[in-house]
Amino acid sequence: MKNIPESANNDEYFKSYEDLEVHELMLLDVERTTAYGNAIRQNEELFKDKIVMDIGCGTGILSVFCAQAGAKKVFAIEASNVAGICEEVVAENNLENIIDVFHGKVEDFQLPADINGVDIIVSEWMGFYLLHESMLESFLFARDNFLNKDGLLFPDTASIYTAPCQLPQMFELWEEYLGVRMTSFRQRLREQKSTKPEIVPLSAEQLLHSGELMSWIDLKTVCQEDVDNISETFFMLSESHGNFQGVCIWFECTFPSSSDQTPITLSTSPGQPATHWKQTVIVLPEISVLTVEPNEAIAYELSIKRNKSTARGYTLQLDQIDADEIDHPIPCDCIMTKCILFKAHLKKLENGQLEDDDDEELEEEQDENSENKETTLRN
Ligand SMILES: [Zn+2]
Repeated sequence: MKNIPESANNDEYFKSYEDLEVHELMLLDVERTTAYGNAIRQNEELFKDKIVMDIGCGTGILSVFCAQAGAKKVFAIEASNVAGICEEVVAENNLENIIDVFHGKVEDFQLPADINGVDIIVSEWMGFYLLHESMLESFLFARDNFLNKDGLLFPDTASIYTAPCQLPQMFELWEEYLGVRMTSFRQRLREQKSTKPEIVPLSAEQLLHSGELMSWIDLKTVCQEDVDNISETFFMLSESHGNFQGVCIWFECTFPSSSDQTPITLSTSPGQPATHWKQTVIVLPEISVLTVEPNEAIAYELSIKRNKSTARGYTLQLDQIDADEIDHPIPCDCIMTKCILFKAHLKKLENGQLEDDDDEELEEEQDENSENKETTLRN
């Protein structure tokens, strides 16, 4: 094992990765580890005789996958002391002549003089809601400094999704707990917890909508600044009857594949088998919870913003929007009277049945609702 000069390891972040139970948790996350394993070992064509870099290699399992897939050289870089265990794993797999382990940060790493660049960068850099921990920055640093033109990234795309959800485990549990009403406690607990997101496993049934894309990230071209502040407004129609009690966030990553292989996707969606990332949930304060019917409109603005002071952290902000007060798409399938009327009006237009009377009726209806909406509907 080689030490990378200038790489001080007093960073608390790297120290947290010296806890081997963290590595146990990640290795035993079958969805995570087999997604990487399949993406690498099912694509030997891409790895054969290639030079690979594994960033944040931890115990080294991804580096071993790359060597097994035919890579001729793997630079395994790990900033925490776990690099020592990686070295031992490499040895017990008899791969010392292929995998070189480096203890230090990739930002301080230098390629051997006879190598100009690497063909593939592999890294499992994703945090909760994708961006937590900001290890993406190191992945992008390596891409910009070491990856050959036309080189490959594993993974090469990442997507963040969001959906409104119900959280019975947080709201209904305290209605009567062991025969005692505990709603006062629940209310205070909710207030306290609303200052930070929860990392909890959700079932697909808890989602009120199958989800919308918040951000699609092409890892080959994205800059760190592109993901420092992601903010989107969402308008969704509830797909079931339920209580809008929070907003769920999850991510997916895809990997490159050779032409004869199906690309591998690693998904942390509530509808997929569980991963150690679970789902990230922003819980609404009790007073903001809404009971919704199928096709009832739900709107919110969600932002994920990197903290300036503690650059590894992000602030998640949720702003609920009153769906009755904003413009709806045209046509809209929601259950609001104006949208139902407008849809009926459109249908009549399509069928050529519209008479002058109907037209006036609709305009009056819109006037009653709001001037803003009238303008939008007429456009
Ligand atoms: Zn509507």
